[in-house]
Amino acid sequence: MPYRFTFDLSRISRFFFTEVATAAYQKDVHRKVGKTAQEMIKKFKIQEATGLNLSDAVTLLEDLIDVQAKNLIERERFVQTKRRALLLPHCSRKYMDSRCKAAFDAALPSYVCAHCSPDCQVGKAELLAKKRGYDVYILPGGSCVPKILNANHYEGVIGVACGEEVKTGRETLKAMNICGQSVPLIKNGCANTAFNIENLSKIL
Ligand code: SF4
Repeated sequence: MPYRFTFDLSRISRFFFTEVATAAYQKDVHRKVGKTAQEMIKKFKIQEATGLNLSDAVTLLEDLIDVQAKNLIERERFVQTKRRALLLPHCSRKYMDSRCKAAFDAALPSYVCAHCSPDCQVGKAELLAKKRGYDVYILPGGSCVPKILNANHYEGVIGVACGEEVKTGRETLKAMNICGQSVPLIKNGCANTAFNIENLSKIL
């Protein structure tokens, strides 16, 4: 399930994400993030920047920290995996209409990027991941994930999605004994969503 609120963290200081990573490490140690999340919301003026109420901002922050913490826990196992896939959300494409030249292949199921726009983050992520040996899927929705995982035998999967969808995806991977890493969206919605390509590059 996606969030019931929208957010855009793409203009927040990059130090915010460094602090998310630090908080994730501390969560692993102390198992308490509520207070940390509230302090970070205040420090980085998340409510002013996103328009979220405190409760939704805390949910978002706790999920971001949780994603990082779970990445840390699984990292050692993930780096040992050989056959890997990257799952990208179609809503992060530069265009959501006919200007996007990706054709949808229902057999995969995935959009197949035609690299029509050098500044499209999905196109850039696809090239980066393929260069590093990943199979790449550009998904119209989370319902495609079980079909892809059942048809292939991946040992490691990286998913780019909002925090809520990451949780669902992790349950699917756990049930199939597949090691996962996640990159959370920094801007959600139905279109023009965004993720941090540098964070993805580090995790690939
Ligand atoms: S680069 Fe690929 S995903 Fe992006 S708009 Fe073009 S065809 Fe679509």
